[in-house]
Amino acid sequence: MRTFDYTSPRTVDEAVRLLADHPGADVIAGGTDLVTLLRDGIRTPTHLVDVNGLGLDEVSWQPGGAVRIGALCRNAIDDPALGRAYPVLVKALRAGASPQIRNRATFGGNLLQSVRCPYFRLPEFACNRRTPGAGCAALHGDSRHHAIFGTSENCIAVHPSDCAVALLALDAHVLVQSTRGTRRIPVAELHRLPGRTPHEEHALRRDELITAVELPAGPFGAHSTYVKARDRASFAFALASAAAVVAVRGGVVRRSRICLGGVAPKPWRSTAAEEALRGRPLDDAVIEAAADAATRDAQTRPDNAYKVDLVHGVVRQALTELREQS
Ligand SMILES: Cc1cc2nc3c(=O)[nH]c(=O)nc-3n(C[C@H](O)[C@H](O)[C@H](O)COP(=O)(O)OP(=O)(O)OC[C@H]3O[C@@H](n4cnc5c(N)ncnc54)[C@H](O)[C@@H]3O)c2cc1C
Ligand code: SF4
Repeated sequence: MRTFDYTSPRTVDEAVRLLADHPGADVIAGGTDLVTLLRDGIRTPTHLVDVNGLGLDEVSWQPGGAVRIGALCRNAIDDPALGRAYPVLVKALRAGASPQIRNRATFGGNLLQSVRCPYFRLPEFACNRRTPGAGCAALHGDSRHHAIFGTSENCIAVHPSDCAVALLALDAHVLVQSTRGTRRIPVAELHRLPGRTPHEEHALRRDELITAVELPAGPFGAHSTYVKARDRASFAFALASAAAVVAVRGGVVRRSRICLGGVAPKPWRSTAAEEALRGRPLDDAVIEAAADAATRDAQTRPDNAYKVDLVHGVVRQALTELREQS
């Protein structure tokens, strides 16, 4: 049995001091992901810093209209104003996991959850993400759930969070704190592509704590939706998903964000789909062209080629839904 120290600080300053003083420490929030990794010996911290006593569980509207969602807010968050201003976010949250898990899982933990690649989670298989340089069992194994964009020869796992895809589409930032102070990281820069270093999953430094997520002021975000294709109607990660935000003025699309989940090692923005929409009416032909564009440059494997059709389908469904709301 592996042992570790456990501390439950009461302030953010105390928490980041503990992280700075203990290089082998891990943060634990809801524990819905971390506890399974501890159980299976995939993470072996010397110290657990439990952040549940820090507060950080409020949604606060800023004077200019931006909104901050505390890192300890649970994924079951039910805030009607948030639902009106950012429907894509609330839909993405509700599409994740099960009610029981959403009641426990937190915003911060959701963004930093580990990949669901089965080979990563089973220590008997080679995995570059878990053990740098070990190899990648998925390359010659079952890759049905794996990525079709942004992969490298070292890792083809997909990023699992639904919420992160919506936050990318909303141009959100993550607010982090350490003993050196605070900084804001665009969600677009939070997660990393695997390249040669798949074990470096995100841009957070070892001693930094996520304190909140900040969404920009509306109205961009209000006309948005999230569509997710999965193996079961609940309790399943995305095979492919689309977060779509569209601003239509004068009958044509002025601005949009089309982001994909379940198909890349990070939430994946499709600028090609956005380009296909720009300056055009949201009609059937344009929606079809955007869905086609979203699949461009996909690199498939025999097991996951079906994801190209899924991407096409979720983008088309999301845009059709938004057109019908216009
Ligand atoms: C059966 C099942 C189905 C699921 N289905 C989905 C799904 O469909 N969609 C989806 O998006 N998710 C899904 N999830 C994942 C679930 O949403 C995540 O496990 C959860 O959001 C993680 O949050 P947590 O608070 O429990 O994190 P924890 O398990 O406590 O931590 C996760 C990671 O984040 C780090 N961390 C946590 N908080 C902070 C912080 N404030 N600052 C810095 N680091 C931090 C931890 O150190 C750890 O590395 C599913 C999980 C399960 C078990
Ligand atoms: S795909 Fe990535 S996470 Fe999965 S076994 Fe290969 S290196 Fe590990």
